[in-house]
Amino acid sequence: MPENFKNFIAGEWVAPSTGNYFENRNPADWNDVIGCFPRSGPEDAQRAIASATRGFAQWSKTPAPLRGAVLQRVGELLVQKKEAIARAMTREMGKVLAETRGDVQEGIDTAFYAASEGRRLFGRVVPSELRDKWAMSYRRPIGVAGIITPFNFPMAIPTWKMFPALLCGNAVIFKPAEDVPHTGHLLVEILLEAGLPPEVIQLLHGQGSVVGRAVIEHPEVPVISFTGSTETGSAIGATCGRLHKRLSLEMGGKNAMIVMDDADLDLALDGVLWGAFGTTGQRCTATSRLILHEKIHDRFLKMLGDRAGKLRLGPGLEEKTEVGPLIHEESRQKVDSYVGIGKQEGATVLVGGATATGGALDRGWFYQPTVLAGVKPGMRVEQEEIFGPVLSAIKVSSLDEAVRVNNDVRYGLSSSLYTRDVNAAFRAMSELDNGITYINAPTIGAEAHLPFGGVKQTGNGHREGGWEVYDFYSETKVCYVDYSGHLQRAQIDTYTE
Ligand code: NAD
Repeated sequence: MPENFKNFIAGEWVAPSTGNYFENRNPADWNDVIGCFPRSGPEDAQRAIASATRGFAQWSKTPAPLRGAVLQRVGELLVQKKEAIARAMTREMGKVLAETRGDVQEGIDTAFYAASEGRRLFGRVVPSELRDKWAMSYRRPIGVAGIITPFNFPMAIPTWKMFPALLCGNAVIFKPAEDVPHTGHLLVEILLEAGLPPEVIQLLHGQGSVVGRAVIEHPEVPVISFTGSTETGSAIGATCGRLHKRLSLEMGGKNAMIVMDDADLDLALDGVLWGAFGTTGQRCTATSRLILHEKIHDRFLKMLGDRAGKLRLGPGLEEKTEVGPLIHEESRQKVDSYVGIGKQEGATVLVGGATATGGALDRGWFYQPTVLAGVKPGMRVEQEEIFGPVLSAIKVSSLDEAVRVNNDVRYGLSSSLYTRDVNAAFRAMSELDNGITYINAPTIGAEAHLPFGGVKQTGNGHREGGWEVYDFYSETKVCYVDYSGHLQRAQIDTYTE
C-alpha cells in the first residue's frame, strides 16, 4: 500500500478535509508509486491561511538576523540531505541525478544568501532638504505570502520564493505542483527541523484550480508569487489585479541560441545539447530555437544530428542516462503533436521525432531528442513553448537578422550568442530582448545571487533571486524625523544658503 502523505496546517501534519488523495508516480516507471498526496479543498486553504496569519504576527517581530539564522540551518540541513533529496526528486520528476543534485544545490545557495541578508536587509538614510531633519526608509514584512510553483525545479523554485519571503518576515503558504509533491514535503520537513516556528509555514497539496485558487482569491493573502505557464499566470494576474495584490509572475519562454559563422562550433555544440535536451527540454530557459548563420548552417546541423541521435535515454536514477522522461503522458502527447505541426508547416525531422520505446523506456514517458530543420520564423514550432526535447533550427544571414528572429516572439526569458567577435557580443547583449543573455554559453544556468526573470509575456517586471527579490517581499516604509523644534514645510520653507 502506498503511503498517504499529509498537508502541514496549523502546526500539524493533517489529512485533507476532503478525504481525497491523488497518486504520485515515477515518470520513468509508471508501476512505481511514490505515494498518495492530499487533494485538498478550500476548507484546508482557509485553515492554513488563518494559521499563517498567526504565524506572521510572531515571525514578523523576530529580528531579521535571527530569521537569517534559521535559514542558515536550513542550508546546512540541505547540504546534509542533498543526495537523498536529489534521488527522491529524480524518482518523482524524472530528470537525471546530476541535475537534481544541481536543483538542491540552488536551494542551498539560496538559503545561505538569505541567511546573510538577515544582517543586511538595508534601508537608506538620505539627506533631508530641510535642516535638523532626518529622512530614511526601511523594509517591513508584508503578511502571508502564497507561493505557487511548477514541476520542473521542485526544490530550487520553491526556495527562490520561500527563503526571501521568510527572511523578510512573511509567513508562507506553499502549494507545490501536483507532479512533485514529495520534494515539497521534504522541503517543509527541513524548514521545521531547522526551527522555523510551525505556523509560519503551511503546506497545501492539491489542484491549482481548487486549492491554489482558494489561496489566490483570499483577501488575507496579500502577496502571491507564481511560476508556471503563461496561461495560468494570466488568469492569476487578472484575479490579483482585481484584488490589488502584490504579484510576481515567472512564466513561459521560447529561448534562442544564435551561432555565428566565427563561433567555436564544438563549444556551441556542447552548449546546444545541454541547453535543448537537459531536463528533457522542460526548463523555462530551455534552448528551443537554434538560429544558425548560413555559412555554418549545414556543417553545424550535421554535427548536431550525429550527437543528438546518440544521447542515452533512460531512468534518471541510472548514472549513464543523459536524458530522462517527460513529466507525464499528456506532456508527451503535446510534444508529439508539435512535431506533427512542424512537419505540416514544412519543417523536416533531422533526428528523433517519435516516442522512445524498447526495454525500460516502455514503462515511462520517454520521447526522442528531436531536431527540426528548415524552420522559418513565424511557424508555430518557432513561436510557441513546447516544453520538451524539441529544437527548431532556423537559418539567417546576419547578426541583425538573428536578433530580429530572437526578438519576434511573445516571450523574453533568455538568449545566447556564440561568437568570437567582442563587438558583436556587446551589441547583442544590448539588442536581444530578454531578461538574461549568455555569451558563449547556452540559454540555461542561472546563479542564485543574481536576479532572474524575463520580459514581455514571460514575466510582470519582478525578479527572483539575487538582491532584487528582497524588494518584492518587503514593503518600503519611509520615516522623517524633524528635530528642529519648529514647523518646517517641505517644498515651501526652502533654504537658499
Ligand atoms: P502550470 O501553470 O501548469 O502549473 C504551475 C502551478 O500553478 C502548479 O502548482 C499548479 O497546480 C498551479 N495552478 C494551476 N492552475 C492554477 C490556478 N487556476 N490557480 C492557482 N494555481 C494554479 O505549469 P507547469 O506545467 O507546472 O510548469 C511549466 C511551465 O512553467 C512552463 O510554461 C515553464 O516555462 C514555466 N516555468 C517558468 C519559469 C520562469 O522562471 N519563468 C521557471 C520554471 C517553469
